[in-house]
Amino acid sequence: MFRIGLDIGGTKTELVALDAGGRELLRRRAATPHGSYADALEALGAMVMDAERALGAAASVGIGLPGLVAPRTGLVCNSFATPYNGQPLKRDLEQLLAREVRLENDANCFALSEALDGAGRGAHCVFGVVLGTGAGGGIVVGGQLLPGANASAGEWGHNPLPWMTAEEFPGPRCTCGRLGCIEQFVSGTALAADHARVTGAALPAPEVAAAAAQGDAASEASVARLEQRLARALAHVINLLDPDVIVVGGGLSALDRLYENVPRLWRGFAYAEEPRTRLVRAAHGAESGVRGAAMLWPAR
Ligand SMILES: [Zn+2]
Repeated sequence: MFRIGLDIGGTKTELVALDAGGRELLRRRAATPHGSYADALEALGAMVMDAERALGAAASVGIGLPGLVAPRTGLVCNSFATPYNGQPLKRDLEQLLAREVRLENDANCFALSEALDGAGRGAHCVFGVVLGTGAGGGIVVGGQLLPGANASAGEWGHNPLPWMTAEEFPGPRCTCGRLGCIEQFVSGTALAADHARVTGAALPAPEVAAAAAQGDAASEASVARLEQRLARALAHVINLLDPDVIVVGGGLSALDRLYENVPRLWRGFAYAEEPRTRLVRAAHGAESGVRGAAMLWPAR
């Protein structure tokens, strides 16, 4: 049985088809439509049917998207960048494709892919964290995603930054409406915003990181602040979940220094003495999300 995964982002929608062994058979990419919901739904259905035509067989369908699917109403929530926000996408797509479709938060899909055959393979408990535009998270235990009673397990980015300093308090306004969320301190967007606040220079996160690597003192200080905050935020995860592995994805995962500096720094905050939790970079890079969406269905 082939497995199709779709990763719906604000600008593009990716599709991948995996065979039972997890091998990639085809990949498609399309601009995420931003017209009416009906058109966007049809476009999604057509992407699946085109892929099945190319595969010559029907497939299971898993979808990753920002936000979550409310367990009670079945509506897509907090998926503001997509045309599916507030809509019963699962029900409608199931009707269109005449089969059950699985939907998950995109960071959960990332965590699942990395836990099953990526950087967290073989570990019992994996926390996947995506540090890009935002800061998403997902939890996989024993090879199974932990969805949670409210479909919000792993939404650590919307907890407040722990051990805030007087300078950090109360923190920037988050997309969720609250002040001082972790996402506003440790995402790629946050690195750029923090650097701009302190230095007045508007640089995207990769340029701040590159300037730090070339010895620019102000950029170095910005990246060091990010590392220190990430260490505090992940010490919370270690205290609560005590994962074997924390896998980092998203744009900031490219920063080599994180994997040495952050575990050194979290020792000062985690309750466990000498935490053994490993911090590692995602094995599948930006492809993890779409692979994980396909893996919402087991290989058969
Ligand atoms: Zn928030």
